[in-house]
Amino acid sequence: MARIVMKFGGTSVADLDRIRHVADLVAVEAAKGDEIAVVVSAMSGQTNLLVGYVDELSADSSLGGHVDDEYDTIVSSGEQVTSGLLAIALRRRGVKARSWQGWQIPLQTDDAHASARIKGIETLAFNQSLKDGVVGVVAGFQGISPSGRVSTLGRGSSDTSAVALAVALKADRCDIYTDVDGVYTTDPRIVPEARRLNRIAFEEMLELASQGAKVLQTRSVELAMNNHLPIRVLTSFAKPGEDNPGTLVCDEDENMEERVVSGVAYSRDEAQISLLKLRDEPGIVASVCQVMSAANVIVDMIVQGTSRKEDQANLVFTVGRRDVEKAVAALEENKEKVGFDSILVNAKVSKVSIVGIGMRSHTGVAHTMFSALADRGINIEVIATSEIKISVLIGAEYTELAVRALHSAFELEAA
Ligand code: ASP
Ligand code: MG
Repeated sequence: MARIVMKFGGTSVADLDRIRHVADLVAVEAAKGDEIAVVVSAMSGQTNLLVGYVDELSADSSLGGHVDDEYDTIVSSGEQVTSGLLAIALRRRGVKARSWQGWQIPLQTDDAHASARIKGIETLAFNQSLKDGVVGVVAGFQGISPSGRVSTLGRGSSDTSAVALAVALKADRCDIYTDVDGVYTTDPRIVPEARRLNRIAFEEMLELASQGAKVLQTRSVELAMNNHLPIRVLTSFAKPGEDNPGTLVCDEDENMEERVVSGVAYSRDEAQISLLKLRDEPGIVASVCQVMSAANVIVDMIVQGTSRKEDQANLVFTVGRRDVEKAVAALEENKEKVGFDSILVNAKVSKVSIVGIGMRSHTGVAHTMFSALADRGINIEVIATSEIKISVLIGAEYTELAVRALHSAFELEAA
């Protein structure tokens, strides 16, 4: 007998028909005699609606900001609704089921309301319920704070709820049902020949997710990796009982290394900032980074180059596009301290990355990548590498062309 956590996101429980369908999928698994915990998100759009209510009331006063403990009380309610509805739908199918709210398990968090971290999960009662053959339907995204208040884990965190629960329950696997049938070699909207991967290593998934692939929340992949818990990504739109292998995200094995590149990711949410004629002396890059972190701006790619004059350097780095104004304002404010001449901003850039654990053991990967881009006349602004990733910053208008070029250069369409 296996123990499985099944997680369904917002589009999978978007309305009563979708919830009925999810109940059919769960019923098939439960009929196999496995122990099943299900984690649900709110119906799609619900959390946004609830956040909107809070925002509107909060705007009534000049005090600013959310009253965060009540924010959590409100926005967590979407998951309460779907957990109850799914439990009813399961019972109508003759499946023993009950709903569990975060505080009932309890899933304990810290008191950082709206972005709480999980501290521990007590599984005694929940475990017993599973052993009694009752499917536990858990409201994702929520927990209980040290002072006994409802807390939430941050937007999109029901993936993390599911993985954390699976780890605590020592589940064999966490199946994340979503609106795509797995992890692809790249975005099929750009490359129709993109392929679903049968397996992918945790590390690759992490890099792909942080480079712009939006299938799984990064935090949930980290948690799964640290605990060697395999995650399967699969579609909730399959018919019950239909073959639905999805993609297994798991520890790497030797076969995976034969594949040099596993995927191509892209992100259009980038902006490039260049600081011209910086004083070239120790501590300058550190002071730029300090200014950025004080402004709460995350700096991604960084390159420093010498300028024509010996004591001057140019520094180029990237930030998220929505942080550009904040970043520039903070730099201007600290112009004297940092010591630069002028700022150039280019918000029309994209980051395109290739990812694969096979890069560790294969040579010539960079050459293949840069030649493929050069052949299409695509100019590279910035390059960043890690052991299993190469990213380039290019003009945004070349995003699709670059993704297609790299996908075919590494023959990702071939099985
Ligand atoms: N419903 C929550 C949100 O939209 C949590 C989730 O769906 O993962 O952020
Ligand atoms: Mg979600």
